Amino acid sequence: MQILGVDIGGSGIKAAPVDTATGELLAPRHRIPTPSPSKPKAVAGVVGDLVEHFDWRGPMGCGFPSVIQNGIVRTAANVHNRWIDMDAVKLFSKVNDGPVFMVNDADAAGMAEMKFGAGRGKLGTVIMITIGTGLGSAVFTHGRLVPNTEFGHVITWKGEAETIASDAARKRERLSWKKWGRRFNRYLKYMHSLFWPDLFVLGGGVAKKFEKFEPYINVESPVVPASFQNEAGIVGAALVAAQRIQDVQEYQAAQAV
Ligand code: BGC
Repeated sequence: MQILGVDIGGSGIKAAPVDTATGELLAPRHRIPTPSPSKPKAVAGVVGDLVEHFDWRGPMGCGFPSVIQNGIVRTAANVHNRWIDMDAVKLFSKVNDGPVFMVNDADAAGMAEMKFGAGRGKLGTVIMITIGTGLGSAVFTHGRLVPNTEFGHVITWKGEAETIASDAARKRERLSWKKWGRRFNRYLKYMHSLFWPDLFVLGGGVAKKFEKFEPYINVESPVVPASFQNEAGIVGAALVAAQRIQDVQEYQAAQAV
């Protein structure tokens, strides 16, 4: 299937058409800075610009940095408060000529890693943590996503995880890689004690610098950086859309029998 993958983040909104059978981008990705303030109308305007950029008519999968239930945005940790309880499917359907599917951004990135990247073929429990402005999480058991986990907001020994161990925290507190790495390791150990995953996959911008903090990571399960560089969110959002389209088709076929 060909689907427009969109990744809405705190600083940029990125998109590209994706071939969901291979995970490849069908055109170079395009990025537009996230409007500030990131109110719904302004963000929808940018999504519309991206649709126009690719001259897109068809399904769209969209990753968004919030809990998403049935297309409704439920939280707003790093986006404008106006998003809370907004029907994002309805909003983005106004700017896209085709069905729209919404998914949490970390869940989207995790889907891409599980299908085509660092988690490919991994059974058991896999936890992906995306490290950026926020801390995002995606949990898979035997390849199936448990949606909307919010491990960035667990309360640790030093307060909320996202506030102390995100990349934003590293920059804000001007932490050395050693100091931040040790702190992040303690967070991973805490998550390990709760979930005993078979694998941690680390994504987000910081994962590209994995070698800088790898020496300080000694959690009990293997920890690997994500394989996708910047495209996991785009590819994963498209994969989620493809999966949902397929689920509906299968359901309809079963009903028709
Ligand atoms: C949000 C998550 C999101 C993560 C990464 C957190 O603040 O609560 O929903 O996945 O940031 O963007």
